[in-house]
Amino acid sequence: MKLWSKMIGLSLVAAFVVSALMGCAKQASEAEGTIAKIKKQGKIIAGVKYDLNLFGLKDPASGQVQGLDIDIAKQIAKKVLGDEHAIEFMEVTSKTRIPMLKNGDIDMIVATMTITEERKKEIDFSDVYFTAGQSLLVPVDSTINSIKDLTKDAKVLTAKGSTSAKNVREAVPDAQVMEFENYAEAFTALKAGQGAALTTDNALLYGMAQQDRKFRVLEETFTKEPYGIGVRKGDEEFAKLINETLKELQDNGQYVDIYEKWIGKKPN
Ligand code: GLU
Repeated sequence: MKLWSKMIGLSLVAAFVVSALMGCAKQASEAEGTIAKIKKQGKIIAGVKYDLNLFGLKDPASGQVQGLDIDIAKQIAKKVLGDEHAIEFMEVTSKTRIPMLKNGDIDMIVATMTITEERKKEIDFSDVYFTAGQSLLVPVDSTINSIKDLTKDAKVLTAKGSTSAKNVREAVPDAQVMEFENYAEAFTALKAGQGAALTTDNALLYGMAQQDRKFRVLEETFTKEPYGIGVRKGDEEFAKLINETLKELQDNGQYVDIYEKWIGKKPN
């Protein structure tokens, strides 16, 4: 055999061995599951929002992320690792959260995410930990007082990858919906007068109205948005542990404390 053909043969064998080994490693980590991964890392990597007051908001001065989602995520870290600080927060948007979970960048999604049948095809969810409903944020002097007041030339702003974009199109088929990368960008556009209203979950809109009193939230909600914590499909062991944590927080009163701290009243 000529030298070059021997070399090609050898490198093919080497490539085969390397890819077989990598395959084993991948299979092992998949079989291991998220809890083992978290224990090995010594921390949970939680995908959270950075631009939503009351749920997940990063303070640029301190670098701290704060909100209801953050407090819940810390309690899951405490359950798995015995330390609520054994957690790293990574920013997700409504559009990036599912891909980031699926490719292993994050271990769970705690980011104002509604449990939907469509999303359940891609990931699994914990039990419901918060219930919101979609509404509209408008300037205080707006004549819009209901979703029915949206005329067909009214621009409605929201975030890409959200149920809000889909729902508003269903509720007002001829509305002009403008989708932004995240809610911070959508809110900036509303403040700049680029739309008549911003639409998403009422709890998130209250957080925005709190940041800028020139806007108000409509009382009316036109959808139900039950939030769940997202885990990788088939990750039953981790989902079970999260549900146990949520149950414990309910039973020991900590959930009510967290809710009151951010929402300003007791849950119904
Ligand atoms: N809860 C809705 C959703 O999951 C809106 C909030 C968000 O975009 O995170 O799409």
